[in-house]
Amino acid sequence: SGLTLPALLERAAAKYPDHTALTFIGATTSYRQLWQDAQRFAAALRRMGVRPGDRVSIMLPNTPQFVTSFYGTLLAGAIAVNTSPMYTASELEHQLQDSGSETLIILDSFYPRYQEIRTRVPVKRVLVTGVQDALSFPKNLLYPVKARREGSWVNVPYDERVLPYRKVLASQPAAAPTVSLQPDDVALLQYTGGTTGVPKGAMLTHANLVSNCEQARSWMSDLHEGQEVTLAAIPFFHVYGMTVAMNLSILIGANIVLVPNPRDLKMVLTQIERSRATLFPAVPTLYNAINNHPDTPRHDLTSIRACISGSAPLLLETARRFKEITGGANLVEGYGLTEASPITHVNPIFGDQLEGSIGLPVPGVDAIIVSDDGQPTPSGEVGELWVAGPQIMKGYWQRDDETAKTLRQQDGQVWLMTGDMATMDDRGYFRIVDRKKDLIIAGGYNIYPREVEEALMSHPAVLEAAAVGVPDPYRGESVHAVVALKPGQTASETDIITHCKGLLSAYKVPRSVEFRTELPKTAAMKILRRQLAQEARETRA
Ligand code: ATP
Repeated sequence: SGLTLPALLERAAAKYPDHTALTFIGATTSYRQLWQDAQRFAAALRRMGVRPGDRVSIMLPNTPQFVTSFYGTLLAGAIAVNTSPMYTASELEHQLQDSGSETLIILDSFYPRYQEIRTRVPVKRVLVTGVQDALSFPKNLLYPVKARREGSWVNVPYDERVLPYRKVLASQPAAAPTVSLQPDDVALLQYTGGTTGVPKGAMLTHANLVSNCEQARSWMSDLHEGQEVTLAAIPFFHVYGMTVAMNLSILIGANIVLVPNPRDLKMVLTQIERSRATLFPAVPTLYNAINNHPDTPRHDLTSIRACISGSAPLLLETARRFKEITGGANLVEGYGLTEASPITHVNPIFGDQLEGSIGLPVPGVDAIIVSDDGQPTPSGEVGELWVAGPQIMKGYWQRDDETAKTLRQQDGQVWLMTGDMATMDDRGYFRIVDRKKDLIIAGGYNIYPREVEEALMSHPAVLEAAAVGVPDPYRGESVHAVVALKPGQTASETDIITHCKGLLSAYKVPRSVEFRTELPKTAAMKILRRQLAQEARETRA
């Protein structure tokens, strides 16, 4: 794509100046205002000394300040670094050091975590913002210094580097800073690998991110430009929410309804109903949670027309039930990964959808299934999925070794080796079998946890499930299941195992079942299978 991300916002502001761009707990921001705020913010960053190419870390939930900070950072020519609000102090320290961020934009209640590590990171200036900055503009610029820690409000003395976000924004005229941006410039460092090893920053360019919005848009041919309402519950600090909930919405001039905490289901349900949301991109755990929430029947969710589910397998039952409660919303499964901005595959929303499949490569993407020896496999066979296209990252930030392990030049293309095992059928539809690294090997048999999880989830009392490998003296590994039951439901270990025996070959059946009230998830609501595996191994050791 020949566009930069700020060019998308500028275009939306020119086309739909008075349309609502952001809705946050009832407070709205028009596209004109958002564009002005972003320019103002960029001017402020420049005046503070932020230079083109500098990294600016943003540690905010979905709020108007996130959108303004992100677009302002890009307009200043700097690189945004998405920072998960769930990071511990030491994870935050690692990311600030690795990215070399001299500027940090942070929510006041997260500030104590930064404070713990402030002497060990390159940060020179911190912009602190609170929820009140989004709801009303201050008359009094005195900033109350409060931060929340362990459930109680405590005073935290801010250091000399702290600047109140609202004051920074108010101090600038809405003049466009003169930085010339190129589509090939890096726009975002998106860290990945939290569940797989050392976090690495995927360098995503403006062209990568804009291409992916355009590719995602082609998935739904009947999008109504300037009329859609996106319920943005999935976090923007993860690349999936960033592309599908934020940037795609700006591309089509949609009203973005911001939900700062996707775990707050009451808020999600209320906001869908109040805003008459039409688009609801999310993840399977969220659709599933809505399906099973006691408040759901009390809300009218029929405004929802189109949903894309990504980041983990969408179980057929989850999709079916969600379509029911929304009176027939189109819910389709897609697939992607951080290194691909993220979408590479989607089921066509108004075309032939194949249940249990991630659909077809989006326009501009080449996808192949490769065997262990690096050769393309015949259709139907399992191999690693490789993808090439305009949305594939430039590489990992300052990690050429990791880049070389992930990107491969072949046949004049740069292929991203996804680490996912998949198949392609004769019609070109892909299915994800599972992650290569999560394979369980029991008595010489390969077991993909996903198949076991589908069996577990089909038990009527099971709400969430994960299957992991644990050491087994005879088989090398055996399958251990971790499940959470639906509220008010009961099932014993034997019930679950018996249920699985009816569905799976003997070697795939879990040998043990552990019950939890909830499974641990990432900030993007993905079940942390690897953490569960580690915990199960430790308990056994
Ligand atoms: P991290 O590396 O940050 O710990 P992660 O490995 O989950 O987390 P992401 O880039 O967030 O990294 O997620 C991409 C992965 O999510 C894919 O490689 C794939 O394993 C999984 N995934 C995404 N969509 C689907 C889907 N529809 N079905 C199955 N798996 C999916």
